Amino acid sequence: VFESAPYIPPDLIFEVTKNYLADSDPKKVNVGAGTYRDENGQPWVLPSVRMAKSLIADCGHEYLPIAGLKSFRTGVTELVFHDTNALRNDCIASCQSLSGTGALHLAALALKKANASNGEVYITDPTWSNHELLFESLDFVVHKMPYYKNSAFDFDGYMESLKAAIPGSAIVLHTCAHNPTGCDPSQAQWKEIASVVQDRQLFPIFDSAYLGFNSGSVDADAWALKYFIEECNIEVAVALSFAKSMGLYGERTGMVAFVTRSPELAVNLNSILENVQRATVSSPVAYGSHIVSTVLNNPDIKDQWAKDLVTMSSRIQAMRQKLYDELVRLQTPGDWSPIIRQSGMFGYTGISPTQIKHMQDKYHIYMADTSRISIAGLNDKNVEYFAMAIDSTVRN
Ligand code: PMP
Repeated sequence: VFESAPYIPPDLIFEVTKNYLADSDPKKVNVGAGTYRDENGQPWVLPSVRMAKSLIADCGHEYLPIAGLKSFRTGVTELVFHDTNALRNDCIASCQSLSGTGALHLAALALKKANASNGEVYITDPTWSNHELLFESLDFVVHKMPYYKNSAFDFDGYMESLKAAIPGSAIVLHTCAHNPTGCDPSQAQWKEIASVVQDRQLFPIFDSAYLGFNSGSVDADAWALKYFIEECNIEVAVALSFAKSMGLYGERTGMVAFVTRSPELAVNLNSILENVQRATVSSPVAYGSHIVSTVLNNPDIKDQWAKDLVTMSSRIQAMRQKLYDELVRLQTPGDWSPIIRQSGMFGYTGISPTQIKHMQDKYHIYMADTSRISIAGLNDKNVEYFAMAIDSTVRN
């Protein structure tokens, strides 16, 4: 029966880590995967998460409700929307999800079920490698909008394509720390984007995988989202993930929220979310939601988490600066200033596929084929080596 089954190539970013793990050279560096690493290049269990885990040593193995752990949903809703009229007026529907990916999936399914979608979605080019696959797999027609030009956000190209978007379509907006470019719109640019989104009657899905992780402050990172819902009264979906901000990558802990125009509509959206959740995963994963709920609902642990966010975001920022300083010191040909202008986990180096291969073959440095690097893979012990490898590669 499988004679005509095609071979589907894997997402290349997972191959990068596989190849890195198979390399036995002690100098090897992994700047491929988008996972935080500490100053020793090791995965980091956040101190706040350790504190929470010690309090929930045994949370049992019962099913969660379909929409997820109640204290998790209220804690996360309060965290993100605490200062909004949407929350004060009960205009937020929510459902626990399988991390950020599951949140996007539920958002797309709920839009369809609510008859609020024309089956078209706009994403940026480039974007996170899973956006296109995810929406296509749900039978959305995916449109790509130019996003990056001359090492910066291509505002003009983006606006031109936004103004021509098909009314009634969904649009994925990266709330902060655009993946993969690290270039976000300025607040003035966000205001223009919101105005066109309103004119074209587009439905924003705020992909919020990096709230708090980007700047160290959830509120600062959620600025664009708050502007849309509070200043412009735009209905939106928000896809949240605790993979990066609490380091809970493998626990698959996230939430989707819908901000609606009335509390009655929020009740309907909650019922739709439960329906699509039931049809796909039945009920969500328990352990991670107990951790997040404990962190958010315990003031001492929440204070520690605020410090942990600053630890991660400032280490990444320091590594950006070190890499840049080192490339300047080496007088490496090219303009490397985008590295310190970009924000979030990723940097775009702009080196060619041949140069990427050279970095791997000669220096055991592993990065995405787009030339995106995960700055979190750098530390005081390898940043000079990495800069030297870039320097000699681009001079080659
Ligand atoms: N959106 C973006 C932009 C991302 O970068 C990621 C993670 N790399 C996700 C969503 C989803 O991640 P997860 O499902 O691991 O939370």
